[in-house]
Amino acid sequence: MRMAGLLLALNRLFKKCYHIFMIIDDEKLQRTLEKAKSHTDSEVTDILNKAKKLKGISLQEAAVLLNITDEKLLQQLFDAARYVKEAIYGNRIVLFAPLYISNICTNECVYCAFRRSNTALKRHASTREEIHQEVTALLQQGHKRILMVAGEAYPGGGLQYVYDSIKAIYETRWNGQNIRRVNVNIAPLVKEEFEELKKCGIGTYQLFQETYHKETYEKLHLAGAKKDYQFRLDAMDRALQAGINDVGIGPLLGLYDYKYEVLATLEHSAYLDKTYGVGPHTISIPRIEPAEGSDFSLHPPYQLTDTDFKKVVAVIRLAVPYTGIILSTRESPAMRNACLELGVSQISAASRVNPGGYSYDKQNGSQFTLTDERTLAEVIDAVVDAKHMPSFCTGCYRLGRVGKDFMDMAKPGLIKKHCLPNAMFTFAEYLEDFAPAPLKAKGYALIESTTKENFQEGTPIRKMIDENLSKIKSGKRDLYF
Ligand code: SAM
Ligand code: SF4
Repeated sequence: MRMAGLLLALNRLFKKCYHIFMIIDDEKLQRTLEKAKSHTDSEVTDILNKAKKLKGISLQEAAVLLNITDEKLLQQLFDAARYVKEAIYGNRIVLFAPLYISNICTNECVYCAFRRSNTALKRHASTREEIHQEVTALLQQGHKRILMVAGEAYPGGGLQYVYDSIKAIYETRWNGQNIRRVNVNIAPLVKEEFEELKKCGIGTYQLFQETYHKETYEKLHLAGAKKDYQFRLDAMDRALQAGINDVGIGPLLGLYDYKYEVLATLEHSAYLDKTYGVGPHTISIPRIEPAEGSDFSLHPPYQLTDTDFKKVVAVIRLAVPYTGIILSTRESPAMRNACLELGVSQISAASRVNPGGYSYDKQNGSQFTLTDERTLAEVIDAVVDAKHMPSFCTGCYRLGRVGKDFMDMAKPGLIKKHCLPNAMFTFAEYLEDFAPAPLKAKGYALIESTTKENFQEGTPIRKMIDENLSKIKSGKRDLYF
């Protein structure tokens, strides 16, 4: 009898410890959401005031904000998100392009056109020469940052194809231009493979959990290595333990209740921060788009309204003020413009989501349908109209201001001292090398007014900014600090 009691107590203790160390505690998330259903207006106002102090908010507070429906409170939420984004990063918006190197995949994710049973899809893995062509096409538009993406099946079997592709991207040159930062979104690796990936000089390793709800995850990932929920969830631990400095996380919105996914993303983020001293460098918020051959993708079971989606952006901005929030061309131009005001800090532009899409073969199968098909110049034009500063900056990464060092500057809002001038230098380069005349005039007017508003004349930083801008006008490139 005494033995049975002891075993029961040990069992309870084990469960308690397990719950402390596990990243996603389903019961806790469901409980938190239930509790947050009832809230008062003044509770919301208090949470928003707390968020404006830039220290984040608790899980329970985030759940309350996700439950706002009142128009007036929603507007207050959006205003607070904008305030926090500006306080941490200033008005700069980082621009990048995805580069899909291969659409071959052995997994069976029901929402994706690349899944292996979609035999109608034209498959291809770009060769080194083809990657050079793709990167050249991106350089010719003015891009400097690439997110390399692939299905999970690499020619030759191992990861060598991935490492060689990153090398091919970095070594491509066009007219004195080159890609300065390659981020990577590929299937989770084991620690030794992450160590090799780090040696390739990547920026951020990005991986979406798709859904943090385990039961749903298991229903939607039918075959292949990706069936393993836990191996995916633990990927960032292995990446950080292998020395990768920056990681990016995110849910694929539409698979399960968005409120649950946001809270789970915040839990994942807090866990990484607590365990490694580095939270996610970026959080992405892709929404399901129609994918060729996927009926599921046409009718996602938990589709979000546009208002829900804006709420997601705003709550993440308030809860994890230091993180970069990424928005892709899955969203419409109108939605992307709206989200610039809510805390998004990085956007892709002029994207293609198939191998060869920028240059050598536009017929290879795409992962999903693009919603924003504007050129890079058109996207930049809209960003400038909204008084945000387009940025191609890679300064932090190249100066080793990464991982914890970056976080230590981002958390108290110090990073914008670097972000804004560096954004202006890279934007001025773009204006000199690529912009049509009207955009050039508009762009320089924004640089001038931003400089005047933010950097007092006569100060050393203002002097440095003025000098660097004149150097860029007279042909110097790649200035950052
Ligand atoms: N294959 C790897 C994987 O799944 O992790 C890496 C890249 S996968 C090509 C990139 C991301 O695209 C996936 O993580 C998923 O979130 C997203 N995706 C897949 N199908 C999509 C769809 N129909 N609409 C929007 N995003 C989709
Ligand atoms: Fe393959 Fe990734 Fe598409 Fe799943 S989401 S089928 S793993 S490419």
